[in-house]
Amino acid sequence: MRVLVVEDERKLADLLQKGLREDGLLVDVATRGEDALWMATATRYDVIVLDLMLPGIDGLETTRRLRDHGLRTPIVILTARDAVDYRIAGLDVGADDYLTKPFAFGELAARLRALARRSPAERTPALKVGDLDFDPATRRVRRRGTDIALTTKEADLLGVFMRHAGELLSRTCLAERAWDATKDHNSNVIDVYVRYLRDKIDRPFGVETIETVRGAGYRLRDAQRESR
Ligand code: CA
Repeated sequence: MRVLVVEDERKLADLLQKGLREDGLLVDVATRGEDALWMATATRYDVIVLDLMLPGIDGLETTRRLRDHGLRTPIVILTARDAVDYRIAGLDVGADDYLTKPFAFGELAARLRALARRSPAERTPALKVGDLDFDPATRRVRRRGTDIALTTKEADLLGVFMRHAGELLSRTCLAERAWDATKDHNSNVIDVYVRYLRDKIDRPFGVETIETVRGAGYRLRDAQRESR
């Protein structure tokens, strides 16, 4: 079992690494969220332990980006005792469990094992908006049961739209979530990819689910929310 520990406090990181290793786990440590992003995609981890307070992008943003990229590895977030809002926000962006500092080491180890035992299907459910289905792990996209072939980039962008169905998303926000965070984004690129997506997921089915919000960005219509 391989674990990625993301913690900037060196002492705690070393302690976790040592303890988990003694427990027979393989442990890598990252001290920044940015490092966790590439490490988690380069190596297959069974569980990620993520501190919320990190320099650079914080644990929430790291979790969000990992999930937006379709990563389904279980994530346990570490939070301060009083950070209830953060804890809820963490679960909201796709973390599986949380532990409040200070915690008993044995409890962390037990939670990690429990999470790693879950099957991938139990972790991150496929996304569904109206009659559009998307499995981020396999990138399979279907509308009304018909398979739709998307490129990797198109699928990444669709994943962001579907996780935030009904929300107004600016071009910058879309670019940051669907594309490499470190690159400079040309907002025209988003317009081009939105057009590609519409040509594949909307036009052939006679629907218009990705709406343009003039001067602001785009929104994927959440049919269920509208019909209420
Ligand atoms: Ca920290």
